[in-house]
Amino acid sequence: MSAKRIVQVALPVRLRRLFDYRVDHLAKVPDTGARVLVPLQKRKVVGVVCASSENSALPLSKLKAVSRVLDDKPLLPKELFRLLLWAAAYYHHPIGDVLQTALPVRLRRDCPAEPRPLYLWRISDAGRERLGTIPARYAAQRQVLELLVGAEGGALPSQSLSSALPNATTVLARLETQSFVEKVVVDVPGLPRDRETAPTLNTAQQVASVSLEEAAGTYAPFLLDGITGSGKTEVYLDCACRTIARGRQALVLVPEIALTPQLISRFEGRLGSALAVLHSGLTDTERHRAWWRAREGSAAVVLGTRSAVFAPLARPGVIIVDEEHDLSYKQREGFRYQARDIAVKRAQLADIPVVLGSATPSLESMANVANGRYRHLKLESRAGSARLPKIEILDLNRLALNDGLSAPVVGALKQCLLRGEQSLVFVNRRGFAPVIVCTDCGWQALCPRCDARQTLHRGTGRMICHHCGRQAPAPSTCPQCQKETLFPAGEGTQRVEEALVRIFPEAAVMRIDSDALGGPDDMARALQAVRDRKVDILVGTQMLSKGHDFAGVTLVCVLAADHGLYSLDFRGSERLFQQLSQVSGRAGRRETRGAVLVQTAHPEDPAFVRLREHNFAGFAKAALVERKTAGYPPYVRFALMRAESTQSGAPIRFLQSVALAAENLASRSAVEIMTPVPSPMERRAGRYRAQLVVRSKDERRFHRFLEDWVQGIETSRTAARVRWSLDVDPQEMY
Ligand code: ADP
Ligand code: ZN
Ligand code: ZN
Repeated sequence: MSAKRIVQVALPVRLRRLFDYRVDHLAKVPDTGARVLVPLQKRKVVGVVCASSENSALPLSKLKAVSRVLDDKPLLPKELFRLLLWAAAYYHHPIGDVLQTALPVRLRRDCPAEPRPLYLWRISDAGRERLGTIPARYAAQRQVLELLVGAEGGALPSQSLSSALPNATTVLARLETQSFVEKVVVDVPGLPRDRETAPTLNTAQQVASVSLEEAAGTYAPFLLDGITGSGKTEVYLDCACRTIARGRQALVLVPEIALTPQLISRFEGRLGSALAVLHSGLTDTERHRAWWRAREGSAAVVLGTRSAVFAPLARPGVIIVDEEHDLSYKQREGFRYQARDIAVKRAQLADIPVVLGSATPSLESMANVANGRYRHLKLESRAGSARLPKIEILDLNRLALNDGLSAPVVGALKQCLLRGEQSLVFVNRRGFAPVIVCTDCGWQALCPRCDARQTLHRGTGRMICHHCGRQAPAPSTCPQCQKETLFPAGEGTQRVEEALVRIFPEAAVMRIDSDALGGPDDMARALQAVRDRKVDILVGTQMLSKGHDFAGVTLVCVLAADHGLYSLDFRGSERLFQQLSQVSGRAGRRETRGAVLVQTAHPEDPAFVRLREHNFAGFAKAALVERKTAGYPPYVRFALMRAESTQSGAPIRFLQSVALAAENLASRSAVEIMTPVPSPMERRAGRYRAQLVVRSKDERRFHRFLEDWVQGIETSRTAARVRWSLDVDPQEMY
């Protein structure tokens, strides 16, 4: 038997292939899943070994050798490695790029797999004695020892000593040789806390809990379908604790950590140092540590956003996806994966249960319940005494608006203020006004780089394009007719905020949108101000709709609910329904019953009728029937090919040529190629865009078709002239 002399390596390049390197100079062939440093053109790059073999298609003498083996054991656990290979194949995305996504930044470089341990400096008993007798000339030593004595547990990290004392490092080294201080390695940053106790689960929660417990150790997908405030988070916590008790790990995915500080603190409070949180606010080193704790198993619960679906787990026990319908689970560029869908696949490969939770599940998940693939767990009433809010639909055809506010909305806000309760006002755009128009000649402020209008922002007095970020000062006279007849049309959050301050001078009005907030800490502060009742009326965008639990809010007003209803995207009404249910869910989460006012120009639309009845199931059922008749997902598989270029005709010509080239292959594979069309916003940031939908009812043949198609395009010359991408299971059709 001849020995393996070649490894096939995935490299961080956008090519759908592996690269062969020689390993016959090494004592041992590197493991699959281990990183290697290899030469690529004039550089050295880090790659991951995907396979090894005796021979290459190329003669051995033509191949370069692996420069260095970075991991003597596979860095990626087998279960995760299989998942990543599956994901690369399913999304038809270059494997090298997929593997990069799964690794923390530090491990994409040639850093050691194991992070340096985190340690604290602690004063020893000898150090405490020394403090009493220390000569006056050793002022720095005294200062360090005093700081340590004053600290909790007599220990501090070196950074906090360095910030108090510039030469702390030297002083500490000297104190260490004399055994006055010592290093103690800590497992987790932050101090251990007293665990909070869990409430007793109500009957519906117990039923869910028992079902999940019984499914332990087998692949079992569940949809936890529970209205807002019904206690889903308690079910997740219960499930996580039971998983820990069985000696396994729980992976919990949440949409956006910055928007859900409460959920994180509930998990922290309940789990303490058993929790590792993976989010974008971590430094590279912190992320590497959290990743390592997940991989080694010292983090029993790993909580994170989208990319955490690729967190390594030593002993996977359960995967939980909160707000499973949320769009943020879909990566919109590069490797366009859907983390919820990958979570289900991962559970299948690892043979564990997966829980998808939502008050407004995606239609995909509802269909999977209907066809028996997912088990349905329902929480039908709010935990505690809270009831669902009363929803009233206001007909904009019969009501006059001032700054976007109708008289019933102003009246309700006033009553709410008089009762000393809080209200939320949703506006779907930030800025002051979505467009500036000339009332004389009809000129509009359009973005020169996009097929879009520029939004007026007050304060800075600038027009900003929300699609490309271009800014310009707002003109004072019309650039076309030179008259002073410019008028800001429509309402953004700033305009509504201004109007509310004018109408209710005695009220504390606060605006929350991405302009008003600098970072995640601002959001946490703002939310705290709301909970501390320092705010009467909160104005904001959808950013406010997710997961927040505001005890004092009893009124929610939605000023413009129509966008999405007649949108080009077949998911428009689904998204609208989800958003409205989520924002309604913010009202009356305690004893007082909440009220929701929704302004719309289409009050007769069935979506609003069902919304008023809190009838999500009815909405979903009707929408699924429509999807089936029209041949849309989840009944038919979609993939969207996008192309863009600075030249106006190039993208569409490219798509026409790749559609034509695939015609025969498509008809043999039962795949339908639609006509290429310009994107709904054809020009964005100076680039022209076009798109092409392909669809099929047969998943297996669809994927075989896509593989051949994409391979052909990748190696063709036309592809070099445009930027193109394939989006499998697109969530947005533009
Ligand atoms: P969801 O995640 O479905 O929105 P939560 O788990 O946040 O619901 O629960 C809503 C509120 O009800 C929270 O304040 C929570 O602490 C409380 N709660 C949930 N379950 C129970 C229970 N079994 N007993 C008492 N309070 C509960
Ligand atoms: Zn004009
Ligand atoms: Zn623009």
